[in-house]
Amino acid sequence: MKHDANDPYRELRDSLRSLCSEFPDEYWRQIDHARTYPEAFVDSLTKAGWMAALIPEEYGGSGLGLTEASVIMEEINRNGGNSGFCHGQMYNMNTLLRNGSEAQKRLYLPRIASGELRLQSMAVTEPTTGTDTTKMRTTAVKKGDRYVINGQKVWISRVQHSDLMILLARTTPLADVKKKSEGLSCFLVNLHDAIGKGLDVRPIPNMVNHETNELFFDNLEIPEENLIGEEGQGFKYILDGLNAERTLIAAECIGDGYWFVDRATRYANDRVVFDRPIGKNQGIQFPIAEAYMDIRAADLMRYRACELFDAHQPCGAEANMAKHLAATSSWKAANACLQTHGGFGFACEYDVERKFRETRLYQVAPISTNLILSYVAEHILGLPRSF
Ligand SMILES: Cc1cc2nc3c(=O)[nH]c(=O)nc-3n(C[C@H](O)[C@H](O)[C@H](O)COP(=O)(O)OP(=O)(O)OC[C@H]3O[C@@H](n4cnc5c(N)ncnc54)[C@H](O)[C@@H]3O)c2cc1C
Repeated sequence: MKHDANDPYRELRDSLRSLCSEFPDEYWRQIDHARTYPEAFVDSLTKAGWMAALIPEEYGGSGLGLTEASVIMEEINRNGGNSGFCHGQMYNMNTLLRNGSEAQKRLYLPRIASGELRLQSMAVTEPTTGTDTTKMRTTAVKKGDRYVINGQKVWISRVQHSDLMILLARTTPLADVKKKSEGLSCFLVNLHDAIGKGLDVRPIPNMVNHETNELFFDNLEIPEENLIGEEGQGFKYILDGLNAERTLIAAECIGDGYWFVDRATRYANDRVVFDRPIGKNQGIQFPIAEAYMDIRAADLMRYRACELFDAHQPCGAEANMAKHLAATSSWKAANACLQTHGGFGFACEYDVERKFRETRLYQVAPISTNLILSYVAEHILGLPRSF
């Protein structure tokens, strides 16, 4: 595949590609097979400073924007890895950076930048209310100088590979607020102080090697200074973080998409059946070409979302659309790649089946496709609310 010679991120990409080349396909295959966490890779990323990309220089980070962070995530996936092991630190960072107090930033950011602490988890989803976030039942009740947390969360990722977690909980009952998005608050939870002392973590075995958990809160106490921003305004802060999350995951899907196109093209050129490379058949060429065009188009929306986010402009529409376009195009590319490989698409040693499972997740998380479509229909096109 030809690369864009005018790419302004060429230098950044080259650095990432060099780091990723130390972690070849066999490394990721082995991690997937053993269902373990890629510690060596995440350590290497941290030592190179990439995990602190979004932290301003005054707190020990590189002070880069979401655009550069998205290129980092894209390159990991484009080189055969999976950013899902570490992307949480990038999008969770924004909730703290944009809404945390100066004291919180001084306390945590330099330690996150140095790699001493990881901020990889965010707890929003609940088992009974699902996507209907504002109906969440987890409560945080102020008692003296502490908040007491009770409730349950589900699908909360990387808890066992994080020191800190951002938690969204209801501080004012739904019946007592004017708008359902009010009365929710964001907290920074120190996981070492919480696990076993009011927080119980139960892993959920799942389709991909993605560490994700059920969380049970039973009178977990957290100090009041761990409230992020103003009480009751947490939903707004989380939405900002979610826009960053959607945009970064769009970039990861784009990385996956290019990986699938690369592998499909390579295999189609090499594999000879009926005395000719299978890539000579239009039935093989066209699905790959179509997926490639979709990825390129999604990429434009991803850069637009990044640009708006970095300029502190509203970007909800672009972040959602980028995530949807990128996730559907990477899925299209995944299918084209698997089909091109025929039976070998199912063999672990080709890595297609692993990436196929990994990219499938992004149709569902961090937000399912239906919910993006209804957001665009209602909030952008002005159609009636459907639910
Ligand atoms: C591996 C993994 C990791 C995750 N990590 C995290 C994490 O770290 N933190 C976190 O907070 N969450 C996490 N999630 C949760 C994820 O964000 C949710 O699973 C996702 O948003 C969908 O919510 P749900 O599973 O509750 O589905 P539901 O809300 O129960 O919906 C089920 C299906 O019904 C559809 N649906 C629901 N309502 C409507 C409607 N009105 N119109 C049309 N269709 C509708 C949905 O689109 C979906 O397809 C993770 C999930 C997975 C699978």
